Amino acid sequence: PQRVELIPVIGSTNQHWLAQLNQLNNGDICVAECQTAGRGRRGRNWVSPFGGQLIMSMYWRLEQGMAAAMGLSLVVGIAVVESLEAQGFSGVQLKWPNDLYVNGRKLAGILVEMSGTAGGPCQLVVGLGLNLLLPSSEQARINQPFAELAELGEINDRNGLVIALSQHLQHCLSIFEAHGIRAFREQWNQLDYFNGKPVRILMGEQVIQGTARGIDEQGALLLELADGKIKRFLGGEVSLRGE
Ligand code: ATP
Repeated sequence: PQRVELIPVIGSTNQHWLAQLNQLNNGDICVAECQTAGRGRRGRNWVSPFGGQLIMSMYWRLEQGMAAAMGLSLVVGIAVVESLEAQGFSGVQLKWPNDLYVNGRKLAGILVEMSGTAGGPCQLVVGLGLNLLLPSSEQARINQPFAELAELGEINDRNGLVIALSQHLQHCLSIFEAHGIRAFREQWNQLDYFNGKPVRILMGEQVIQGTARGIDEQGALLLELADGKIKRFLGGEVSLRGE
């Protein structure tokens, strides 16, 4: 049976699960009400105040190994959007590689962290921080436009939302393991907020401009340059920004 650990206040649910990887089974989740040290990518801060967010991390062992993890994080985005839609919240889109957007504002972040060696299976922790309704006192701590699920409808069953998310996530990850990112590409591109829009790609000091063209069969972001050539970007140290 699936393990569900509920912790009211925690540093980070990802950190908590990463510390006990070898005792976990696929689908085990850790759910919190508040994170005191929530994390984004590359050490950035993730604001997760008491009662304002749905915060959960799920363990998954990926037999295909680390190289497949990039595609997996894209699939997580689709799984979350579909779960929300099934619960009556529509209009959520995706931003490569792993944010959820509502009207161009950030509704949720996904942080996939892993442990493993090249060539072997890897152990993943998939973290989700989804804004429900943030206390107004906390909003100023977020230094980019954000969205809240409450904008899309009444939230009256947070537990139900956690269960729906957890079940659908497991379902989608199983499909991903069997068929890879190919099975999700078209759908991801349909949900892509930036598809067809002018964007900038930040890679360290470098800035590359072009038009976003969704993802390819490997989950790489496609950028159409001014001369019509397509450049691809695979995860890691790459950030996507609107014009
Ligand atoms: P990238 O495109 O490189 O992922 P990002 O700005 O989306 O850049 P993340 O690491 O995904 O970075 O997320 C961290 C950032 O998200 C923070 O720096 C902050 O700007 C923003 N943020 C923090 N907490 C929240 C929140 N509760 N809701 C929305 N946005 C938040």
